Amino acid sequence: MKRLQQSLILWLVLLPLSAFAAQIQGVRLWTAPDHTRVVFDVDQAIEHRVFSLSGPERLVIDLSKAHAGRKLDTAQMHDRHISGMRYAERKDGTLRVVLDLKQPVNPKSFLLRPGGGYGHRLVIDLYEKQAGGRPKVAKSARNIRKWRDVVVAVDAGHGGEDPGAQGRVRHTKEKVVTLQIARRLKRLIDARPGMRAVLTRKGDYYVGLRKRMQLARRDKADLFISIHADAFRDQRARGASVFVLSRHGASSEAARWLAARENAADLVGGVSLDDKDDMLASVLLDLSQSAAQEASLAAAQKVYRNLGRLGKVHARRIQRAAFVVLKSPDIPSMLIETGFISNPTEEANLSNPAYQERLARAIADGVERYFREAPPPGTLLAKLERDRRPQEHVIARGETLSVIAQRYRVSLARLRQVNRIRNDRRIRVGQVLRIPRT
Ligand SMILES: [Zn+2]
Repeated sequence: MKRLQQSLILWLVLLPLSAFAAQIQGVRLWTAPDHTRVVFDVDQAIEHRVFSLSGPERLVIDLSKAHAGRKLDTAQMHDRHISGMRYAERKDGTLRVVLDLKQPVNPKSFLLRPGGGYGHRLVIDLYEKQAGGRPKVAKSARNIRKWRDVVVAVDAGHGGEDPGAQGRVRHTKEKVVTLQIARRLKRLIDARPGMRAVLTRKGDYYVGLRKRMQLARRDKADLFISIHADAFRDQRARGASVFVLSRHGASSEAARWLAARENAADLVGGVSLDDKDDMLASVLLDLSQSAAQEASLAAAQKVYRNLGRLGKVHARRIQRAAFVVLKSPDIPSMLIETGFISNPTEEANLSNPAYQERLARAIADGVERYFREAPPPGTLLAKLERDRRPQEHVIARGETLSVIAQRYRVSLARLRQVNRIRNDRRIRVGQVLRIPRT
């Protein structure tokens, strides 16, 4: 009897999972600027095959031992890259899905485990084929202008298949709130002279963490700001926090916890976090990052102070943690947790347009202050700051040339030169100095 039981169990285990046909329960589509993501909801991990056909362009997705659980909604399945979707069950038990394409694509497919409120998923990313060879026409008039704008990359956290955290009362999704705040922040920054913002995400689609940094670099950003609104297991947690990158551990348990959460978002991209060239990357980072880190901290402090004026801030100081999205070796970067969506009061605040605007304004003010104090060379802000300096200075008691030079941010040599001073001891109280503007 015992023996029979054992063999029965063995038989059950050996029975391949796929003997039970998988059910396709739904399909949806996310459009990003450079690709389209098609997601199938399935009730189990599934085997699949993807191939392209041309004349006309199509992408065929064969799902082994699968059938449509109910009629799939194909009416929505069209965008910039896809013109339609059809599907049929074949005799061999395969469900064949055909996507009609507007242009040839490079497909990439992978399975996602349950998470973020979804079950098993099959993801097909359709990337635009590069129209190789011909370089893009150089940017027009903008480059000719003598003084460039300071560029701020505003990064709305999460998106698409990755909803981020979710509120408990109204089920507000983090990805929605972050995009709304990011858009407001962009508008406020664009309205200020000498400043311009670019968004790393413009709609409801997923962008990988490293891709976000690449986009910022492509736009030659001077500052990278990632906007989040996270949940914490303690529902009472509230207030905004500002983070900068740490390569040597997190500054608090909450910081560590949040970093783990945010970094996990990359799993939705179908990539593993343990990057193979991480070793090389870390060496390069250590070499070049200290300058960017100092700038990150300076910028973060300005923003943090303003957020503090807005209301309660969560931590007493800038926090440090190993957020992947902040690992940009050359761009000063910060991550702002605008509030805890897990706190019912803050959930209501974060989805309130007036509150979002106040938040965005506090951030924009902090950013502007940072750039006014340390404008990157060649920018309009650098020129404005220089023009604003007085041209003359009357020497007061106790002042030395080097103190005066520091105050106007000119070199001591240049100050001596324009005032024809050869001996510093020959300056006197009440003497009028010319302050050079370059
Ligand atoms: Zn987040």
